Order: sequence, then structure tokens, then C-alpha cells
Amino acid sequence: MSPRRRTPTLVLHVKRRCLVCDAETDVTEPSETDQIGPLCEQCHAPTERVAVLSRRVVSEPLNPHAAALGRLGGLKGGPARAAALTARRRREIAQAAARARWKK
Ligand SMILES: [Zn+2]
Repeated sequence: MSPRRRTPTLVLHVKRRCLVCDAETDVTEPSETDQIGPLCEQCHAPTERVAVLSRRVVSEPLNPHAAALGRLGGLKGGPARAAALTARRRREIAQAAARARWKK
């Protein structure tokens, strides 16, 4: 089990405004989320954090509901990193398998 699981995380409830269509949304996101970044639900342009409505510290990973809210603007960095990691892992496994195969 990862020791990081219980690391306290600062979570913000923020208002974001789309840089293009001015649509406003309330989202819950980790405090380290870029001030300008998450994509607009309407037009997929970047949104800017224009107000912090509340903040709280959670000692567990974001609950699925909050994570889903944070994702309303679109998935980006995390999933891309996860995909890259998975690809790299796959390659390592394939290389190990190839080495094992040629070893005899
Ligand atoms: Zn927009």
C-alpha cells in the first residue's frame, strides 16, 4: 500500500470562467491545478480560476464525486502521464520477455 495515500491534500472549490465563451462553472479541484488550464465544457477552450469559493484539506484521495467534478473541464495531464507510463511499462515488460527468449 502506498504511504502517500493519506497525505493531506488541499482541495479548492473554485469558480472558473472560460477564456473564450465566458461560461462560468463551479468545480472542486486540487489546489495545484493550474490557474489557467482546465478546458471549458462548452467550447473546450482553457478556463481561468476567477474565484476560490472555499478550501478544505482532505486526508484521503479525492472522493470519486469530487474528482468527477474536477474533470468536467476535461482530462489532461494525469491521464496522459498514466498512458505514457503504461506504454513504457509495456515496453520494459516486452524487452524483458525478449531478453529471456534470446538468453537460451
Ligand atoms: Zn468556453
